[in-house]
This record gives sequence, structure tokens and C-alpha cells, in this order.
Amino acid sequence: MRDPRHDVLFESVQIGPVTARNRFFQVPHCSGMGYRDPRAEAAMRRVKAEGGWAVVCTEQVEIHPTSDITPFIELRIWDDQDLPALELIAAAIHDGGALAGIELAHNGMNSPNLTTREPPLGPVHLPVATWGHDPVQARAMTKTDIARMRRWHADAVRRSLAVGYDLVYVYAGHALSGIQYFLSPRYNTRTDEYGGSVRNRARLLRELLTDAREVAEGKAAVACRITVNELLGNAGITRAEIEEIVGYLGELPDLWDFVLGSWEEDSVTSRFGPEGGQEPYVRGLKQLTTKPVVGVGRFTSPDTMARQIREGVIDLIGAARPSIADPFLPSKIEQGHVEDIRECIGCNICVSGDFTMSPIRCTQNPAMGEEFRRGWHPERIRPSQSSARILIVGAGPAGLEAARALGQRGYEVVLTEASRELGGRVAAESQLPGLHAWRRVAEYREQQLRRLPGVEIYLQSRMSADDVLEHGFDHVAVATGASWRRDGVGRWHTHQIPMDRSPQVLTPDDLMAGERPAGSSVLVFDDDHYYLGGVVAELLAAEGYQVRLVTPAASVSDWTANTLELVKIRQRLMSTGVIAETNRTVLRLEGTGAITGCVFTGAETFITAEAVILVTGRLPHDELYTDLQARQSEWEKAGISSVQAIGDAWAPATIAAAVWAGRRYAEEFDSPVLDEPVPFRREMTSLAAEPHTG
Ligand code: ADP
Ligand code: SF4
Repeated sequence: MRDPRHDVLFESVQIGPVTARNRFFQVPHCSGMGYRDPRAEAAMRRVKAEGGWAVVCTEQVEIHPTSDITPFIELRIWDDQDLPALELIAAAIHDGGALAGIELAHNGMNSPNLTTREPPLGPVHLPVATWGHDPVQARAMTKTDIARMRRWHADAVRRSLAVGYDLVYVYAGHALSGIQYFLSPRYNTRTDEYGGSVRNRARLLRELLTDAREVAEGKAAVACRITVNELLGNAGITRAEIEEIVGYLGELPDLWDFVLGSWEEDSVTSRFGPEGGQEPYVRGLKQLTTKPVVGVGRFTSPDTMARQIREGVIDLIGAARPSIADPFLPSKIEQGHVEDIRECIGCNICVSGDFTMSPIRCTQNPAMGEEFRRGWHPERIRPSQSSARILIVGAGPAGLEAARALGQRGYEVVLTEASRELGGRVAAESQLPGLHAWRRVAEYREQQLRRLPGVEIYLQSRMSADDVLEHGFDHVAVATGASWRRDGVGRWHTHQIPMDRSPQVLTPDDLMAGERPAGSSVLVFDDDHYYLGGVVAELLAAEGYQVRLVTPAASVSDWTANTLELVKIRQRLMSTGVIAETNRTVLRLEGTGAITGCVFTGAETFITAEAVILVTGRLPHDELYTDLQARQSEWEKAGISSVQAIGDAWAPATIAAAVWAGRRYAEEFDSPVLDEPVPFRREMTSLAAEPHTG
């Protein structure tokens, strides 16, 4: 039964004219699906509602063609043509038992309008504030523009109500909303009544909130999502200013939704910020209004949630990532199954979906984004269809998830692991600086496996092809992982790096196994471009080595632009004394260091280093798989009907991809959902009518 300390989380909360049945609030978050995949989006949001969130919101919904954040794929409410998709999503949320919220957004000078080609709109004439540094400026809005924007927003509220939303947002947060640029002294240098004093800068927000209330007519709640501190000191919105704004507008919305800084600050990864990190910024603001307040903070602990409620920090537990990692978080707390919560690890792979314009994915929840197209569910899976016995070799993310999901289906599973512990690369990587939370990928699965009677686990059991053939399983999944290459082959070098009489060469695997460079000067060659190159540089710098990181990319840990970590990684490396050289590659290792070359000119420079850490490509551990394939003639006698490699052993990728591969093996075991070539449902665009000619 539920822990009485968590009872407070299940009190209902009045939000204007609507009632949230508990305090769990899925705040608006992007999904990378939006207008392209509305059915997929609806199915994903429905699962959240089913999992117990009292309110489930959409991502931002662009209200007008002058708010077009192409290439990002969000939702749109430009005109009535967008309504069927939005109606489908609201209906799915209702069907799951939650209130439906819609985040209406005019992105102002954050929208480059690449699709619509409309000139962007801002408080003043300034280049657009986009990640892509698009070569277009926002035009200073005239009074007529402001009046038109008010009309567009009011129309969007009207349309939202017409298709069933219970809560409509006025969005002024994350440096993504046009209203924030009006609020912020950094951007708003207008001299009319929309600029200058805090109240003047908040005039547009006040007008949009007033309009929204008028249109909503007490039939839907009006929420205001606002950045409580731009973290720019006096150059941006400060604590004093937000206090004035909330004091002044406090009673106008039915709900305040507080966020911190830009998206990078608000969705900080676990490498750079703790659970509940927004608390000091939000604390005290609730006391300036009688209206309920929702706040976020990658909440995973129900005790932290209950404490923030009891201490009057917030009224509603806002969550994007915890609701992605575990859509059933509220119902697990309600039923007292706290140990079953699949805790978010704070890796921001979910965010990368939006940044790569692909459907949302999650390291912890492989069903995320697959609800509609593959019919996967975070908690349920179809029962077994045979009495097959399955051997899974390797207990990394892929093997653990395959064993867990097959065990849940009711199959008999034997999971063997060569080392003394479960987790594979997650067990190793979570020992590195900043990655401690990642251990939850293994911990959650270990905890679930212990309760599955059909699953047996054998540690310190390295399997050879002979071992496998001896034991007589029906099916074998080889999830033996991969290791970092020692020859420097990767993106830059597609053949071995020349390394005669070279300094000591180490790989990240050597470091994770406890080995250390012999001397004091180290060169990290990062040709991988995700997190690990930066992490090993940080590790060695913290241990006192002089570290130089060389990468052919324009930034250190280039791909982490997709996880919102790029700037923070560079800051940390700078603060730990790592010297980073970008747009430079290691050409060859020689004598007391490495010859490096400028990626543009080839101009060579020698860098002295006693050791070189190669973070380049990986090689799958596929010996067992290839040995077994080579001995196919012996399978029948051994009772084996299939052998598959999954996860990194098949093709090295992210931890999220390995977990997903494990799940896919289990989901498709016995029978795939859909046959190839396209093994999932697709939503097809319907063709528009031909324009009238003649
Ligand atoms: P993935 O990310 O694909 O799950 P990992 O590298 O994280 O891959 O995990 C692979 C696991 O498989 C490691 O824990 C490793 O010790 C284990 N392993 C590798 N080869 C064997 C083998 N022949 N028998 C048993 N376990 C193995
Ligand atoms: Fe959390 Fe990572 Fe999943 Fe995002 S992808 S919800 S950060 S575990």
C-alpha cells in the first residue's frame, strides 16, 4: 500500500475551472513527432494519462505562420486544418483519464520561419535567436503587429477549446517564446509602453493572459509558463524582476508554471545538475500568488516531491523527463510500488529526438515513441507464445532488457555474464565523473529480474560456442557488447593510425578497468564526438594529468549539442584545465607524442604526450556470434533454432539503442509485429487537393 508520507501527492488541486485529480503534472515537452506523427504523439500522451498523471500537455504548438521553428517538428495551430490532429491528441489524453493541456506558443525571434518565409517578429530589430544562427533578422513589432499577435493568440485559444483542451498555456519561457524576449531587458530595448520598466516589458504578457481568460470564459484554465531567472545577472530577468511580475500578474492566470533560464538550464543533465535543482529559484514565488504553482526538477524521488509540496515550494509536481522514463510513475507511487519506478538517468537522449527531428526515444524507457508504430507499452507486453528456453549471453543494457522483457512475457530465460556484476558498459561508465546516475539503467533491470521466476542469472560465466552448444537452448541472443579500438580507426582514420615507436596508447576501456597513463602529459584524441572523450579528459585532469584534447570536430563532444550539454562540457573542461583543440586531428603517433594536423589546411603541429587515449571507433564482441554461425550444422543436434546478436555486439551505438535492441528482441520473439521492409506502422501524409486551374 501507499506510504502515508506520499498521501499529499494524491490530493486534488483546483486549477481555475478544472480539477487535477492529483498533483502529478506532465508539463509540455517536445517529442520530435508533432505535426508529422500525430497518431504516434496521441498514443504516447495517452500512455502518460493512463500512468496516472492528472494533467498531460502537448509540446509547444505554433500559433501562426510567423512562428515557424523549422527544422524542429512541433505541433501547429495555424488554422482549422491543424485541428483534427490536435483533437486526436486531446481525446487520447482524456481517454487515458487526464486533463489535456496545450502549450500555445508564438516563438517570436526564436522562429526563423524557414518553411513559411515570413519575416520573424521581435521586440526590436535583432538577428533571430536560434541554435542554427539562421541568417535572418527579426523585425521590431509595430503596434499593429502586437494587435495582430493578440488576435492570433486569442484565435488559438478559441480553437484549442473547440477541440477539447482543458488548459491553455501562454508561454513565456526557455528563451524559446517570443514573449520572453519582450520580458527580457537583454532583448527588449523598446522606448514605447512595451519597453523600459518591468511592467511595460510585461505588458504583452498581461494582454495575452487577459485575452486568453476572456476567450476561455471559465471553460478552460489558463496557465502561464515563465522563466523565473534568465541567469544573465542584471542583463536578463532577475529574481527581483520575476517577483515584481508575479506580484503584478499573480492572479491573472489560473496556474503558474515556473521554469529556469533557457532550455539548457531547465533540462540540465545529471552530469551537470542534481534532482530538484530549480528549488532555490522557485522557492518563495508561490507566496506571491494564490494560484497553484507547478515546477520541475527531474524529480525521481517521491520523498523530494512530497517535501517540496509540504514546504510550499510548489503545488504540482511538474515532470517532462521523469514522465518519459516512467509514464507510470504516479500510479507506482500511488500503489506503493516505489521500487518499480524506472528512474530518469538525466542523459537527455529524449531531447536528442527533437534536435534530430526524429521521434522521441529514452534510454530507460524503450517503449517511448514506439507506442503507436510498434504497439509497445512501458508496462505491458504480450504473453509468451511457446515454451521456448532462451539463453542470453552478456548482461549489459541489451542483455538485461532482453532478459527482463522476455521474463515478463513468461519465457524461461538464462542470462549469463562473464564479469562479476551486471550492467556491462553502464556498470563501467557510471564510475566516470558525472555519470553516476546512469547506473540506474542496470539497477532498475536487476531489481525487476530478481522478481521474475523464469529468469536465472549466472555471473562470472563467460560463454564459448562449445558452452552454448552443450547446453541445449532453443534460442540464443548474443549481447556481448563492444570495445574501444586500439588502432585509432574511426571517422577520421578509416585505416589504422600510423604509430611506430609511439607513446603509450590507451583506450577508454583501459581507463575504466583502472589502468592509468604512465607519465603526466596525456593527449585525448576524440573522434567519437559524443560524451566519452570529454569525460575521460575530465577524469584525467581531475587526477592531476596535463590533458590536451584534440578533435577534428568544431566543438568538443560535438554531438552533445543534441543533449543540451555542449556549452557545459566546454566550461567544465576549461575549469579543470583541459586544453582543447578543435578542428584538429591526430595524424600519426610518433616518438614522444603525436603529429596533429589542421583539418582545413593539413598544417602539422607536434604535440608532446607521454600517453595517447584513443576515443575513436568501437568493435563489436561478435566472436561468439560468428563462431555459432559458423557451426550452424551443429544447431539442430543442440536443439538451437536461432542465434541473434543484439545491441553493441551487433552494431555499437548508444546505451539507449542497446536497451531498445534488447526490448525489440523480446517484443518480436516468436513473431514480429509487422513484416519487413517497414517493420512499423507509418502515418502517411494525405495529398492536398490540386489547386483550381482554368
Ligand atoms: P550492450 O550495450 O550491447 O548491452 P555491453 O558492452 O554493455 O553491451 O555489455 C556486454 C556484456 O557482455 C558485458 O557485461 C560483458 O562482460 C559480457 N560478455 C561479453 N562476452 C561475453 C561472453 N562470451 N559470455 C558472457 N558474457 C559476456
Ligand atoms: Fe531521462 Fe534519459 Fe530517458 Fe530523457 S532519455 S527521460 S533524460 S532517461
